[in-house]
Amino acid sequence: MLLKDRRALVTGAASGIGLATAELFVQEGAAVMLADLDAETGERAAGGLGDVARFYRCDVSSETDWQALMEACKDSLGGLDIVVNNAGISHRDSRPMHPADMTLDEWHAVNRVNMDGVMLGCRYAITAMRDSGGGAIVNLGSVGGLFASPLAVAYGAGKAAVIQFTKTVATWCATQGLPIRCNAVLPGTIETPMYDSFDAEQRAANARGVPFRRAGRAREVAEAIAFLASDRASYVTGVALPVDGGLSAANPMRTGD
Ligand code: NAD
Repeated sequence: MLLKDRRALVTGAASGIGLATAELFVQEGAAVMLADLDAETGERAAGGLGDVARFYRCDVSSETDWQALMEACKDSLGGLDIVVNNAGISHRDSRPMHPADMTLDEWHAVNRVNMDGVMLGCRYAITAMRDSGGGAIVNLGSVGGLFASPLAVAYGAGKAAVIQFTKTVATWCATQGLPIRCNAVLPGTIETPMYDSFDAEQRAANARGVPFRRAGRAREVAEAIAFLASDRASYVTGVALPVDGGLSAANPMRTGD
């Protein structure tokens, strides 16, 4: 078992990639705290994973929620070895926003979750892992943080920040002699409730643009997260690993090939 006896926290674990990660972690021997804003779905998800899984309702953009969540992890898991900062939103306003009509409210609403949530998650993870003797952090970025995102300005900028912040946390921990690795996973086009918010035509066009010619599955992203969280990645820190069916490797001039 890849994660035998590890104590893990996964945020945004009520659905999509977070839920697939919690499921895989349990199969690989970990005890898991699932955290999410959506208490009803989250409780049900944790209930389906047996008594090694717990649920805690939390808004990752709230510092007081993080403090309470850390207490809950200490009380019910005895500490933390793995933190997956997965909770994220693609937009608050459903209409596409380009740089010329971007609103400050939209920018803040998206990045309170996607940037503030990851910053707080890393800070509290470092504190908890110092007490546990080390651990691994995995942050969810996006290939949208590598390319221009003219219709999802706040999301693209926030995901680019997650990549940069991951590298800073990784190198800071390493140079401080803290045995804490920090890496990012960058999903491409993945079938989850977030992806379902696009219409069918848009989803089909997205899949055609992927060299694999299909969207990925949440489980395929979870496998990469589990690897980076495990001792098999003991010499890996500060990477941003695309899980995208070749999307970020492709030559944009030749996507029709
Ligand atoms: P999803 O919408 O299926 O799940 C996200 C979960 O996060 C939900 O359960 C939601 O309730 C929770 N959440 C939202 N705001 C929260 C908050 N403030 N506090 C706590 N929980 C909160 O999304 P997903 O597709 O599984 O995405 C997971 C991560 O992967 C996100 O960070 C997303 O940006 C990233 N990602 C997804 C895709 C994709 O194609 N699905 C692509 C690139 C990156």
